[in-house]
Amino acid sequence: MPESRHFTVINEPFVCIVCHTQVAPLRTGCRNHCPVCLHSVHVDRFPGDRQSDCGGLLVPKEIVQDGKKGFMIVHRCKSCGEIRTNKAALDDPEQPDQMDAILEVMKNRSLHIRGRRG
Ligand SMILES: [Zn+2]
Ligand SMILES: [Zn+2]
Repeated sequence: MPESRHFTVINEPFVCIVCHTQVAPLRTGCRNHCPVCLHSVHVDRFPGDRQSDCGGLLVPKEIVQDGKKGFMIVHRCKSCGEIRTNKAALDDPEQPDQMDAILEVMKNRSLHIRGRRG
């Protein structure tokens, strides 16, 4: 069966391996990262398909703003180095991503670029 478009999305609760938060599934999409620390695990080839056997820790490296989608979290896999982006879920009514955590990633990133100022 060709499944380039209709791949199976597994949207299930998980426990964050970094901060041990119980993460509920999104009703409005597929969340693959922790709303508290924004880390994720490299288990998907496409979002939600659980087809990757890497299993490395996906570390939030950067936040980018997409005109349509809003904040996107850029993850880098600690094991294989793959770069992935995932939409931030700041408007999730049950378990929104923490704005503080988003800002923290942004801050670290700008420190990294500009060096320490102020
Ligand atoms: Zn976490
Ligand atoms: Zn990986």
